[in-house]
Amino acid sequence: MQTTDEIIKLYDDYVIPNYIRHPIVQVKGDGVYIWDANGKRYLDLFSGWAVSNLGHCHPNVVDAIQKQAALLQHAPNIYYTVPQGELAKRISVNSFGGQCFFCNSGAEANEAAIKLARIHNEDKGKFKIITMNDSFHGRTLATLTATGQPKYHKGFAPLVTGFAYAPFGDLAQVEKLVDDETCAIMLETVQGEGGINIPTMEYIKGIRELCDRNDILLILDEVQCGMGRTGKHFAYQHYGIEPDIMTLAKALGGAIAIGAMTARKEIAKSLVPGTHASTFGGNPLACAAGVAVFDTMKSENMLDNVNKMGTYLREQLDKLAKEFDIIKEVRTLGLMIGVELTIPTSDIVKKCMDAGLFVNSTHDTVIRIMPQLNVKKEHLDEGIRILKQVLQTEAQKV
Ligand SMILES: *Cc1c(COP(=O)(O)O)cnc(C)c1O
Repeated sequence: MQTTDEIIKLYDDYVIPNYIRHPIVQVKGDGVYIWDANGKRYLDLFSGWAVSNLGHCHPNVVDAIQKQAALLQHAPNIYYTVPQGELAKRISVNSFGGQCFFCNSGAEANEAAIKLARIHNEDKGKFKIITMNDSFHGRTLATLTATGQPKYHKGFAPLVTGFAYAPFGDLAQVEKLVDDETCAIMLETVQGEGGINIPTMEYIKGIRELCDRNDILLILDEVQCGMGRTGKHFAYQHYGIEPDIMTLAKALGGAIAIGAMTARKEIAKSLVPGTHASTFGGNPLACAAGVAVFDTMKSENMLDNVNKMGTYLREQLDKLAKEFDIIKEVRTLGLMIGVELTIPTSDIVKKCMDAGLFVNSTHDTVIRIMPQLNVKKEHLDEGIRILKQVLQTEAQKV
């Protein structure tokens, strides 16, 4: 096998440098652990942006992919396949009974949602979409525009017209932006990239009512917070409301690239043949993996585990917060966790990595932790021990 330096050289020569990469070559994953090219083991409590929700290479997912790979890998969307139908059913029966469109990423799922909201409202002359500050919806031009973070917009003007932004959590500001041309309000049920921001019951219910009063579609982006991450199948289920359109991706395919938009039937029907499509969307390989994800979450009672381990980790983090003044706030919903510090977190995350732990830094001062849904107490203890050590050295510097 090539050395770490040789692999990095390949990237330097042949891969566009649009990412800041840590000098680690990941070669193998098993459950909560990852190994690099030097044989060093890492405890992964980040799950690659909440993609590897079932742990790395869960045997059920491996089995489903291997079987499907040997049976049929691609079928054009002018035919039917078993896995696409089966996955759509699982999404629908576990959410609000809608119909699905499949694509290959979160951005594409949100792009589809934006297009659907517009075409569904074309006759009414409504096209404007309200999104939230600190949101993240993807990197295609429309989803980038929807993303309420100016730093990501820089250099790509002119953006798509028809978007307006409100501070996340501020219902009155959203209400002010609504006019006769507003077709949708779009938000992450729990903000991920924005620093793990968990909205109040009043806010989410208020947004739903505002949509109902003004004939506006509610689009919930559950690309990161969906698929069991928060302790329910979908985060909106904590709030006693239903969206009109919901988008999924990250954990949906058990690490295989897939995205999905699901919409209430009477809205979904606006997407008539010819209006939208994706060559690879809903391909049998990714959908077979997705079916295995849903079925394994159920057979292994993972939502229960998320709630138990979420409570346990919350207690441990609250203890750390009492001990360290640099911890400003701990925000958790299930196993979607943000620890906000009074200092930048990128160094801390790097030190954790050196000590064999993957967590993430987001929104400058937040440590984001998103363990696998089947994580065990002993793994969390191991992670907390490393984090505590690193916080101790950092706290001394302040
Ligand atoms: C990651 C993410 C996206 C974009 O997904 P990609 O697969 O990278 O296109 C969209 N919305 C949210 C909330 C995300 O976390």
